[in-house]
Amino acid sequence: MDNIELLKNIEFAARLIREGKLVAFPTETVYGLGANAFNPYAVARIFEIKERPSFDPLIVHIADLAQLKLLVSRIDERTMKLAHKFWPGPLTIVLPKSEKVPDIVSSGLPTVGIRMPDHRIALELIRRAGCPIAAPSANKFGHISPTTADHVRKQLPEVDYILDGGKTDIGIESTVIRLTEYGFQILRYGAITQEEIEEIIPMDPTTHIDKISAPGMMKSHYSPRKMFLVASDHSIAIDKSKAGLISFTGNMEEGFRKVIKVSDRCDLRDYAVNMYEAMHRFEDDNDIEVIIAEPVAEVGIGRAIMDRLRKAEFSWKQKR
Ligand code: AMP
Ligand code: MG
Repeated sequence: MDNIELLKNIEFAARLIREGKLVAFPTETVYGLGANAFNPYAVARIFEIKERPSFDPLIVHIADLAQLKLLVSRIDERTMKLAHKFWPGPLTIVLPKSEKVPDIVSSGLPTVGIRMPDHRIALELIRRAGCPIAAPSANKFGHISPTTADHVRKQLPEVDYILDGGKTDIGIESTVIRLTEYGFQILRYGAITQEEIEEIIPMDPTTHIDKISAPGMMKSHYSPRKMFLVASDHSIAIDKSKAGLISFTGNMEEGFRKVIKVSDRCDLRDYAVNMYEAMHRFEDDNDIEVIIAEPVAEVGIGRAIMDRLRKAEFSWKQKR
């Protein structure tokens, strides 16, 4: 697609957002399902189309710091430090919300999660729409996050428009943090690692996080339609002839019906980029009855990867 056509599409999408419609758009993490964050009716349709429970708050996407000021009631120095270091980028900061933010966006919480996406199409869309855009991932609640426009089309055909920007770069959702008296707490693991944030501000040593303020801690996230296991063991009692392996090291591929290798160079970032795509492919593949994902060490982005894999395994086990 040439630049002129892309700009025309962005302008069209921005007009829809201004009119209170819903637009799916690419960010560096996954595709988002966006609406004008100040329009509660438009935001309500996000919950409707996604079939998302109303207690699960949305992340608001901004293009500049002027928009941050509209959304929050208080900005401290730490927020500015984090913003300078990580924005645009996959860090969502939960902050006390201003009165302008409709309660439906924050699921009634007094706080709102905000981030500036590191994606030129997303930023241009927000700028042209002239408002912050509330957007969760553009999938049905409990399904696999979309990393291509096709993934969105498959799950949400009723969306008003899909702005196609190709495959997303990072492929795993943003890290969500909040600030306490003592430092930051991670509410959801994601693309920015704990270690990276610790270089800017200390981590809150108290580990207690109440359920209400951390809806992202829900045990299930992606709920697979097929048997889903995280396993490194060669002797797992499954029929490998019906199983698809999401492979990382290449060390356990033998015997599987199909293998999707997520990285050619054993780089965890590739796992994050290709993980959801692999899940989509196995879910759509009639030859595959069981999906096995190879676990990784829980360092850096490995924590976020293992978080999503465990949630998928947990929710599959719950269904039985
Ligand atoms: P999604 O955009 O679908 O990846 O989900 C957004 C996630 O961000 C939620 O499930 C929460 O984990 C987190 N989040 C958004 N806003 C808040 C908030 N005000 N307080 C705590 N967590 C939040
Ligand atoms: Mg999501």
